[in-house]
Amino acid sequence: MLHRTIHLFRKELRLHDNPVLLAALESSEALYPVYILDRAFLTSSMHIGALRWHFLLQSLEDLHKNLGRLGSCLLVIQGEYETILRDHIQKWNITQVTLDAEMEPFYKEMEANIQRLGAELGFEVLSLVAHSLYDTQRILDLNGGSPPLTYKRFLHILSLLGDPEVPVRNLTAEDFQQSDDKTHVRRIWDMRCRAPDPDLAERYRVPLPVDLKISPESLSPWRGGETEGLQRLEQHLTDQGWVTSFTKPRTIPNSLLPSTTGLSPYFSMGCLSVRAFFYRLSNIYAQAKHHSLPPVSLQGQLLWREFFYTVASATPNFTQMAGNPICLQICWYKDAERLHKWKTAQTGFPWIDAIMTQLRQEGWIHHLARHAVACFLTRGHLWISWEEGMKVFEELLLDADYSINAGNWMWLSASAFFHQYTRIFCPVHFGKRTDPQGDYIRKYLPILKNFPSKYIYEPWTASEDEQKQAGCIIGQDYPFPMVNHKEASDHNLQLMKQVREEQHRTAQLTRDDADDPMEVKVKLDRSEENISKRKVARTTE
Ligand code: FAD
Repeated sequence: MLHRTIHLFRKELRLHDNPVLLAALESSEALYPVYILDRAFLTSSMHIGALRWHFLLQSLEDLHKNLGRLGSCLLVIQGEYETILRDHIQKWNITQVTLDAEMEPFYKEMEANIQRLGAELGFEVLSLVAHSLYDTQRILDLNGGSPPLTYKRFLHILSLLGDPEVPVRNLTAEDFQQSDDKTHVRRIWDMRCRAPDPDLAERYRVPLPVDLKISPESLSPWRGGETEGLQRLEQHLTDQGWVTSFTKPRTIPNSLLPSTTGLSPYFSMGCLSVRAFFYRLSNIYAQAKHHSLPPVSLQGQLLWREFFYTVASATPNFTQMAGNPICLQICWYKDAERLHKWKTAQTGFPWIDAIMTQLRQEGWIHHLARHAVACFLTRGHLWISWEEGMKVFEELLLDADYSINAGNWMWLSASAFFHQYTRIFCPVHFGKRTDPQGDYIRKYLPILKNFPSKYIYEPWTASEDEQKQAGCIIGQDYPFPMVNHKEASDHNLQLMKQVREEQHRTAQLTRDDADDPMEVKVKLDRSEENISKRKVARTTE
């Protein structure tokens, strides 16, 4: 029997490598592609800032257009998901609901509720994993039911599992068209959407930001959607030399445009398939004489993603300190004023403030820039909980992700995974190494743009006359540093040392010093150096 199906898009907002949508089409005579915009659900699960709302709406609009090209369309229904499903299951005589399987507790709970509804109303539920390379449960099973807690162990388990499943084929208009040939599966986009109720598509159109009262000013230069994501991906993959020599620690945190792929917002919302990217990389590696390896290679980055998904999927209270068995229990300071200064780019350290400004304006910052501001907030200078930083990132990042965000915040605060805690990033020297002229700071903090390069990272050391000449008086137009770097970092180092001695066993749980991708020593030869430079030049055009 062929089904009448609601396909519920949740995170996999794409038509390429979408296994559950393909399965839905193959098993249905009528298919309703639906996105339920349940604002209460979305905002109670994670903080979503204006930039990400825009990105989400752009991604939905793009999905709608791409479905339109195949003879279908996206129905965006606003309201509480259970009420909407209950209502439309009956209205449309639905016999099956298909959806992407996600691993976050709130999405799992949603799926369980839909299963319950299915049992009550008599429809079937089909869900498939498409957001990660593997079904994380398979990794847990192979590791004896618990998550591998180091990257090395994780890679070992993957070597037993073999390659991830290959991506499914792209969908075509044929998949959505009615076939009169009775030997074929009839796959139709229900005529009701066009004929008896022509208003349906219009009634359930993708809302505009103004409909959701989202400020039109908060627009990131990153445009959401599968189309944009695929274009960016293709652009990167054409430079095969760059792909094969990609070495994460060598990428530049303060180039004016991303020195890494910048694909994270697209992976995060499922506009891009991580499996498709993984296999494209495999093909390029297969044709190359040499290529970099995990943890620093591009595939290695995707495996970090997978690593955090796996650990998060089976660690209680993963996004908080209390009740989280792998996380050090630390008495962080509670200081709303200092937190606010960090969040709003008023620390008085131009490197930190420029990064936080880029984050607020664009919703994306480089991995090492994330390192700098996360270390500063937590174990480095302010001794404020990583949970506070995680919440700010959650609100501001386009790529905000439940597992990756929390995992990396634990890492940077040395609460789990990372153990070289004596290495504290200096907010003056870190950025100088790759941008001695301070072009990045000049771009994001224009108030400082007229300072000579020797002062750009520490403008408070300029004389009064020099400050006047630069048109910016420190303490008046731009703040003095909120802490003394040496005093604060020395003090916090002692605190961290004490915590780690007291909680030695927890500290060992996720310890493997070979895991640190930034510690991998790499020799630059001239040609590779040129490749890195070319990449930055290309992206800054
Ligand atoms: P590339 O270097 O081009 O890597 C390709 C892809 O691999 C990325 O798009 C991403 O999906 C994945 N990836 C790369 N680095 C990591 C990593 N360290 N951990 C897990 N996956 C990785 N990434 C998010 O996607 N969402 C988050 O919420 C997030 N929060 C972070 C918070 C902190 C404190 C830190 C230090 C890092 C965080 N990251 C997060 C990880 C990383 O910084 C970003 O994934 C990366 O910078 C995105 O840029 P890219 O796409 O150019 O990465």
